Amino acid sequence: MPSTTSSSLSVLASPSRYVQGKGALDELGTHLAALGRNPLIVADDTVWGLFSQQVTGALAAADLPATRVGFERFATPEAVDSLVDVIAAGGHDVIVGLGGGSTIDAAKASGHLARIRWASVPTAASSDAPTSSLAVIYTADGEFVEYRFFPRNPDLVLIDTQVVAHAPVRFLAAGIGDALATWLEARATRRGTADAMAGGRPTRAGTALAELSWDILWENALPALDAVAAHVVTPALEAVVEANTLLSGLGFESGGLAAAHAIHNGLTAAPQTHGLTHGQKVNIGSLAQLILEGAPTAEIEDFIAFTTQVGLPNTLTEIGLSPEDRDEIEAVAEAATVEGETIHAMPFPVTAGQVVDALIATEGISRRVRSERGLPAPELYTGGGH
Ligand SMILES: [Zn+2]
Repeated sequence: MPSTTSSSLSVLASPSRYVQGKGALDELGTHLAALGRNPLIVADDTVWGLFSQQVTGALAAADLPATRVGFERFATPEAVDSLVDVIAAGGHDVIVGLGGGSTIDAAKASGHLARIRWASVPTAASSDAPTSSLAVIYTADGEFVEYRFFPRNPDLVLIDTQVVAHAPVRFLAAGIGDALATWLEARATRRGTADAMAGGRPTRAGTALAELSWDILWENALPALDAVAAHVVTPALEAVVEANTLLSGLGFESGGLAAAHAIHNGLTAAPQTHGLTHGQKVNIGSLAQLILEGAPTAEIEDFIAFTTQVGLPNTLTEIGLSPEDRDEIEAVAEAATVEGETIHAMPFPVTAGQVVDALIATEGISRRVRSERGLPAPELYTGGGH
């Protein structure tokens, strides 16, 4: 975890190469060949069922074998260690995380431990995990365990927008939630004195890219969601994929995380939230952060209206909780404010009590704004485990 005291250095961390566009997956072999001769692909059964032919063909075109290992749901310490064993047994020199954020994080963590190169090939623009030099480790039930920091970013990030256009709409919406938080958190970190995740004070580049991601999303998020619903690639979708994947990744790593992601991590302690995506929970964190920092009312209300249109939750109801669940909300707030959490990058001291109040406040404010603006009332989420 980065220190919350000021460092004299600023740091920008980034992947060595970022490749995006329609048909990019067909070029995977060309880009991987620059990194190694014996790649190991990590993909769950669903992802491999969809992309094995295309990936095998792309690798064969570059004279590379396509060895694949399966993956369960979360990047647990055990999943990472077992990938390290597979790398060693097969003599692999580059590992490719193909799929969602947890697959990619497990590939990064095992590639680091095995001292080989690693590449991220996301099959949706659902989070900014692919570009960063850190992995989020969970329990098998999806509870946050720790951030693991690596001295390098992925050697390659490759994202095919045609693939993104065929992924479920809710994946893109989740990525938008993750990327909207980036500017709110980078702005707060810049105002404070803490280090960003990259291990130094935010660079101006990191902060500016976080803001660019925000601006792109307000302009393009809704038409990009329309594009994915129609399975087509448009300039709006290309813009949002870049915001969600590259800009948000650079922006959070070198601009700083603050309250929104700490509250997300706290929410993973509540079993009710377990079926939800990272970006959905982050969006609750973003709104709670805006309330916590006393942001202008117009900014808070516009954020609620916009994220409702995107299809992201902004009430406790939509993540399976209610303002009456005092014990759960207190447990979430305690977890969000433990020592070392990024909430302490906020430019003022934050207590668990303040987080409880901000979380409870989301319900009433969002219900009022949605009703005033003719947007649908929140529906109770019941998908979580108990
Ligand atoms: Zn995130």
